[in-house]
Amino acid sequence: MKDPKKERTYVMIKPDGVRKGLIGEIIKRFEQRDLKIVALEMFQPSHDDLHNHYPKDEEWITRLGKKTLSTYEKYGYDAMLDFGTLEPEKIGPEIRKWLLDFMKSAPLVKMVVQGTHAVDVVRKIAGPTMPYLAEMGTIRGDFSIDSPALANKEKRAVANIIHCSETPEEAEHEIKHWFGDGETYDYKRYGVDE
Ligand code: ATP
Ligand code: MG
Repeated sequence: MKDPKKERTYVMIKPDGVRKGLIGEIIKRFEQRDLKIVALEMFQPSHDDLHNHYPKDEEWITRLGKKTLSTYEKYGYDAMLDFGTLEPEKIGPEIRKWLLDFMKSAPLVKMVVQGTHAVDVVRKIAGPTMPYLAEMGTIRGDFSIDSPALANKEKRAVANIIHCSETPEEAEHEIKHWFGDGETYDYKRYGVDE
């Protein structure tokens, strides 16, 4: 079995997080939970980098479309008016496009975060995808309020400050995609590793 302390996750501070001046605050929250930053860099992503980062499979894209349709239903908005279709597999690609445009709109900060249950703990620290549903005490709950109801009216992606991997497998895949081979650093944290 792998060393539980060595689980890694991939985190990216999105354009809204960078532009709100939250880089330090976000890193602080991981470190104070005894998680370790083992790689860190600011960069401007290319379109292709982002295109290859977000899943391209029909299932993921349709899920994006379905989530949008359920928001429209919940708030009584007219999806036909905004998208010209009610098919999730046609709405999904539109949201994906907004997402890529949003992610290109400012430099990002990418990092690898390591520690016990890093994937789940980082997602817990981040809070749920939709900021208006996020509890206070989470990054999204403390610093954002965006919702798909507003974002989709404005034809843009939901701004939710950070990206973090959903599973350890996805994390390893994303670390490889954004950092290639190497370029992560291990060290002993006082009080955590000794
Ligand atoms: P991330 O993958 O960025 O960590 P997530 O896993 O919480 O976020 P996903 O369902 O993977 O959320 O969606 C990816 C991103 O697409 C979201 O973080 C958000 O920016 C955007 N997004 C998701 N659903 C919608 C929607 N209905 N309308 C607009 N943008 C959306
Ligand atoms: Mg995701």
